[in-house]
Amino acid sequence: MKRVNLIYNPKSGQVWRNFKPEIVKEYLENKGLIVDISSTSCPNDATRLARLASQNNYDVVIAAGGDGTINEVVQGLAGTKTILAILPVGTTNVLARELNIPLNFEKALEIIPNGEVISIDLGIINNRYFVLMAGIGFDAKLVKEVDSNLKKYTGILAFAATSPYSMFRHKKSKMIINIWDNNGKRKKIKINSYQVLITNAPTYAIGLKVSHTAKYNDGLLDLDIFTSERIFDFAWKLISIAFITKKASTDIRKSYQFKKMTIKTESSNANTS
Ligand SMILES: [Mg+2]
Repeated sequence: MKRVNLIYNPKSGQVWRNFKPEIVKEYLENKGLIVDISSTSCPNDATRLARLASQNNYDVVIAAGGDGTINEVVQGLAGTKTILAILPVGTTNVLARELNIPLNFEKALEIIPNGEVISIDLGIINNRYFVLMAGIGFDAKLVKEVDSNLKKYTGILAFAATSPYSMFRHKKSKMIINIWDNNGKRKKIKINSYQVLITNAPTYAIGLKVSHTAKYNDGLLDLDIFTSERIFDFAWKLISIAFITKKASTDIRKSYQFKKMTIKTESSNANTS
């Protein structure tokens, strides 16, 4: 019989999603699974709990939360035999959308007993795994500046509300980037940029497609360097991606695919999810 550990953050998520851990337990136990519930009590606790679950040979860990919670759980499960299942009940659910997991948590729950198991590429930066993306530059600064209480109540709108203020104080960073392809061939890139993104999936945030070629199962990561000359161009491009085109066009960025990368930059702003 399969043993399942549900990990959730009692303080996160948005109340209208009606998530209750007892519903999950009852539903899955009726399907013949054994379910234990663990709730997190501080930042990174989901990593500790997920690691513990894999050490205790749970077959499945369910991460109930948004991309932040999933990211924490992934740190504890990467490279183990324990399977990750997702109940998307957080503020942003980009990975769930990429994997076509329903955003209605009861519908997502129905998939878990007989769901398809797939492998997902993971990026690793500064000894931390990421599933979706890593950003260096403007987005990292933004995430740092968004008040977490504001984010909790208004979701993605909080990011939008903070951005004009942050944007016009943002400077380009000089970057020296080395990338290696699948065959170990190196390419050196010197650039001045407002924003570099490393992506494993096309979607960056809700509805925003920044990469055309990134795939979560191709064994590679994508590098997108935003090439705007001036901050106003960069700002306008971001606004047009967000509200008009919904995707980044090739005239505003250079793209590469790689297996390994090093980056030297003046900016200390890095962000992962
Ligand atoms: Mg990939």
